[in-house]
Amino acid sequence: MKQFSLMGLIVIVLIALLAGCGLQGSSETESKQNASSPVTMVHPKGIPVLMYHKIGEDKDNDAVVREDLFRAQMKFLKDNGYHPLTMNQLYDYVKNGASVPEKPVVLTFDDGYADTYSIVYPIMKEYNFAATVFINPGDMGTRLTWEQVKEMKQGGMTIANHGFQHIEMGQLSQKEQVENIKKGQEALERELGIKDNPWFCYPYGDKNEFTDVAAKESGIKMAMAMKSGWAHEGDNPYNILRVWVGNAVDIKHFEERISTEYFSDL
Ligand SMILES: [Zn+2]
Repeated sequence: MKQFSLMGLIVIVLIALLAGCGLQGSSETESKQNASSPVTMVHPKGIPVLMYHKIGEDKDNDAVVREDLFRAQMKFLKDNGYHPLTMNQLYDYVKNGASVPEKPVVLTFDDGYADTYSIVYPIMKEYNFAATVFINPGDMGTRLTWEQVKEMKQGGMTIANHGFQHIEMGQLSQKEQVENIKKGQEALERELGIKDNPWFCYPYGDKNEFTDVAAKESGIKMAMAMKSGWAHEGDNPYNILRVWVGNAVDIKHFEERISTEYFSDL
């Protein structure tokens, strides 16, 4: 008799557990709905703009990040409630002191490598992350095709100008710099329908005294440097500092780099 009621108890517990699972399922849906509702807006002292190049295997190049490490970094952002911003959000913060979603971060990918399409783009879609790719229209076809870039743009990534050719701006006159930037602008408009692209990134981070003016003259509103640091309200929008990410940036250092602008050198 006692055994029988124990069985009954087990059955009741099992039913309760199953029902619990069902409830848990619906509360998960609820929290997903909540996640898409407006997030808390903040006004941070600074924002880390992460600088990526190639994702994949290349141990000899310290600007390359292994795919597994890159995936772990993006998962870290997702799991810890970080909000990748668009270039527009970053610009509005730097220029006008606009507030941004809490735990802001900016994801930038220079040069337009094949892996930006094959590895980065699917992850950005999966996590619904904003990201910006700086391409050299003059190199199109060597790593990426216009078709792939078009697809990334339609999928929500921001495509911007890294110069028609990947050349050191600091070696050029103001006129030559304007030519290189404008040729890139024209290609973005012709191939992707981007009229008056406002975002630029200096190849090699190289500049001279004419570069900011040349960028402005070419219709650029904000440009990324390669100098290390975070972006702040009131910074020169033509010299946005960035946070370097390479294979030496393991998850511990990654967390440090997005939590404090006084991160350790590697
Ligand atoms: Zn570059």
